[in-house]
Amino acid sequence: MTARVLDGKAIALQIRHEVQAEVAKVIERTGKSPCLAAVLVGEDPASQVYVRNKELACQKAGISSQLFRLAAETTTEELLVLVNRLNEDPSIHGILVQLPLPKQIDERKVLDAVSPAKDVDAFAPENVGLMSQGRPRFLPCTPHGVMQLLHREGIATEGKEVVVIGRSDIVGKPLVSMLLQKSGPCGESNANATVTCVHSRTPNLPEIARRADILIVAIGKAHFVTADMVKPGAVVIDVGINRLGEGIVGDVDYAGVREIASAITPVPGGVGPLTIAMLLRNTLEAFRAANP
Ligand code: NDP
Repeated sequence: MTARVLDGKAIALQIRHEVQAEVAKVIERTGKSPCLAAVLVGEDPASQVYVRNKELACQKAGISSQLFRLAAETTTEELLVLVNRLNEDPSIHGILVQLPLPKQIDERKVLDAVSPAKDVDAFAPENVGLMSQGRPRFLPCTPHGVMQLLHREGIATEGKEVVVIGRSDIVGKPLVSMLLQKSGPCGESNANATVTCVHSRTPNLPEIARRADILIVAIGKAHFVTADMVKPGAVVIDVGINRLGEGIVGDVDYAGVREIASAITPVPGGVGPLTIAMLLRNTLEAFRAANP
């Protein structure tokens, strides 16, 4: 069997067009436009590219964006002053602090300082709590992108055995939480999974992975998941982004797994583009909440 390739790029574009149409309506209704503030500390080349891509995506969707660049040696206190200023500025609806932050900065303290109402990355404890109770204010962008991708590709999670590899606060844990809900971002078929989460301390990981109807991988280790870890006919979602000499690759051995899975996301062009699309969606939702 050669797997169907799940086209994240096309789905992301579809979502971006939906957001663009809704943004045009809210601008017409309120005379104001949604605005995302992006905070970039230091010169990390990958972060600069990410922030630039987010700015361009905002522009295309009709969302304004403001970039705040701070020097690499910025202190936690200096960054907190900026975050607090953005929290209080009514013309800013979403705040994105690009990670990773330089080592001297207390990342947890800074992320905790972002107002939950403007927390479009959905990292704030209040927003994580609301999501885990099944009444989200914002959904975290990458896991939400995975759920949208599954739904729009006609892959229901309800009643399925889903294995998530990786338990980070940004990807693995929120995915588990979303899959477990009684109703997901796209309804009941987009939730209600039987979920297992495995990580670096799981002894029999390949055996558990082979149980999955849907296998989602987010660990940051190139080519980690090989064909022998995948049940024939499983759906495989690769969240990983690994920069190697050969270019960007995922956490899945794409060539091998493609021969056994029924559907698979490529890297690049799979989950990646959806993250930005969901950030735009959250910025629009933040604006709507501030302008009912
Ligand atoms: P983290 O480093 O925060 O977490 C990695 C997780 O993988 C941890 O839970 C870790 O386990 C687990 N892990 C690491 N090595 C192994 C192993 N050998 N066996 C089993 N589990 C392992 O990474 P993120 O979740 O932030 O990111 C994961 C990947 O997804 C990265 O490649 C990242 O670049 C990519 N990513 C892509 C995004 C996109 O837009 N497509 C957005 C965000 C991330 P433990 O907890 O035990 O240490």
